[in-house]
Amino acid sequence: MRSEIIVDLKKLESNVEAVRASVKKGTKLMAVIKDDAYGHGAVEIAKYLTNKVEWFCVATLTEGIELRKGGVKNPVLIFESPAKERADQYVEYNLTASLSDMSSFEELADGTEYHLNFDTGMRRLGITPENAGQVFELMKKNRKMTCTGIYTHFSSSDEPQNESVEKQLHQFKKIRKFFPKHLLTHVANTGAIFHYKGMDVSFDAVRPGICLYGYMAGDVMVESLKPILSWKSFVMQTRLIKKGESVGYGQSWIAPEDGVVGTIPVGYGDGLMRILSGKFRVKINGKLVQQVGRVSMDYFGIYSSDASSFVRGDDVYLLDGEELNAKIWADEAGTIAYEITTFINKKNKKKYLF
Ligand SMILES: *Cc1c(COP(=O)(O)O)cnc(C)c1O
Repeated sequence: MRSEIIVDLKKLESNVEAVRASVKKGTKLMAVIKDDAYGHGAVEIAKYLTNKVEWFCVATLTEGIELRKGGVKNPVLIFESPAKERADQYVEYNLTASLSDMSSFEELADGTEYHLNFDTGMRRLGITPENAGQVFELMKKNRKMTCTGIYTHFSSSDEPQNESVEKQLHQFKKIRKFFPKHLLTHVANTGAIFHYKGMDVSFDAVRPGICLYGYMAGDVMVESLKPILSWKSFVMQTRLIKKGESVGYGQSWIAPEDGVVGTIPVGYGDGLMRILSGKFRVKINGKLVQQVGRVSMDYFGIYSSDASSFVRGDDVYLLDGEELNAKIWADEAGTIAYEITTFINKKNKKKYLF
């Protein structure tokens, strides 16, 4: 095995507790496990969380069906808009649709449960607020489908003081008045859960995503969250290198001193972004070692001026969930932790620590 992903489920549990501690008592958790649980393995994460959260949310109908086929029994909300030709599958697999467009009333099959999704400022998916009254009429007319919830999504809650959050919340509360009290109401993602506690964003349920995996949305950290993913490989080959010699494609890195170079069998084909070339360190025997040269499709190089730093076969941690984590990579790569973990190729075997 060239490399493996190790997911620490105890830390996942502690992240769930951090969410519970940040929301109103009795708030339901709708764990967002879209895109294979941000690269952590959706079915395994769902099975572990089955009694620890109430709902799951995924991006697509296909992901929802995968959860059902994997034995997940909790209610599941699908974010994408339903496609008419697959409408029956929501009923068949007992999945809750998102109704984000008035025309979706015609697309859903009889017997479907759905949540209304209103666009209060994200401008991605969602019903326009002005149509709230009309939607209520359509809802009453389409009695063969059941509305069980109502929600919206924040565009900028990852920033602790963004005034758009209050505006969206205000807009949502106005819309909410049109609809029956019993609908499950949910608005908060990670940013809102941790940065906007004071604004009463809990409602009936919250939709935590990235925080479950131990990262914060945006740059303001939350101490109680712990990254749950480690990425482990090994030293496949070593060679001594002389000052002035290069490593890898394009000879982009030149050894500053005599030392040792190691080859690690992980590359961009495994989901290690090439843009990170030369910008990260790995951990071997508890010590940090610099990555050097360009990351290639299946390999990258490391270097130490101390020739005894590592030997062939040594364990190599690319990520260890502590000082080596996806947020550090994200900052180097000019992206967000979400993209780093989601980018890890599914071909990497995963191991779960209970
Ligand atoms: C992805 C997503 C979430 C979770 O967002 P995080 O920032 O990861 O917490 C919640 N709601 C919707 C609609 C989403 O698309």
